[in-house]
Amino acid sequence: MDWFKKAKSGLTGKEKKEIPDGLWSKCPECGEIIYTKQLEESLWVCPNCEYHFRIPSHKYIRMILDNGELQEYDVDLESKDPLRFKDSKKYPDRIKAAQAKSGLKDAVKAGIGKIDSIDVSFAIMEFSFVGGSMGSVVGEKIARAIERAIEREIPLILVSCSGGARMQEGILSLMQMAKTSALLAVLAGKKIPFISVLTNPTTAGVMASYASLGDVIIAEPKALLGFAGPRVIQQTIGQDLPEGFQSSEFFLEKGFLDKIVNRSQLRETLILLLKYFQR
Ligand SMILES: [Zn+2]
Repeated sequence: MDWFKKAKSGLTGKEKKEIPDGLWSKCPECGEIIYTKQLEESLWVCPNCEYHFRIPSHKYIRMILDNGELQEYDVDLESKDPLRFKDSKKYPDRIKAAQAKSGLKDAVKAGIGKIDSIDVSFAIMEFSFVGGSMGSVVGEKIARAIERAIEREIPLILVSCSGGARMQEGILSLMQMAKTSALLAVLAGKKIPFISVLTNPTTAGVMASYASLGDVIIAEPKALLGFAGPRVIQQTIGQDLPEGFQSSEFFLEKGFLDKIVNRSQLRETLILLLKYFQR
């Protein structure tokens, strides 16, 4: 009775435009309509089902760092167009549009901040900028954040939110995986702690490099984590995937993750970990 199913999904389907922006927001997980002000107070976590809405990097900075302050570095680094790449848009046009929309030059902010008065080298990815993709600018800024942690002998905290490498920069994007991973090995050699925070989503080239190399790796609940998309994997191995595959919960169960942390506990958890490492 297919038509019954269709009618039902038509009623409960993802009609995102029904609610005007601003006053009310709809939880994509449970469908609850929530007063946006209330959501803002609950750090954009659904009070009904604990779904973690994706939030922009500046909100994390405000939430995690002392006084919400990040002393940013390398603010003006910008992508070139080495491959003269064009898909539905020319790459430079895509970058310009993302810059105009976000007010950022690329998909990561990096600098020095304090967490409970402890200096940290901190970087956070911005998903709204070309899907938080890692091109040469993101890779370079992450690399410099690692170098700052090494030079100043302070902990490194990276908050990831990314669809992976930036295809418009081809092999130059993939090189960032090697570059950042090699520097993290130097950091590890100096016994400087690195805490990796995974948010929804952290996938592909980012997951396969720095995001999964933390001394401690924590993730927000129900975040999409993984390398290739589930459909690609399913087609490649020709098998059905287990339930909950590529979620934070699945990763925790399989030992890829140390802890799942609710957003409201994120700052406190980081403080606890930093104090532990200080001993
Ligand atoms: Zn919900």
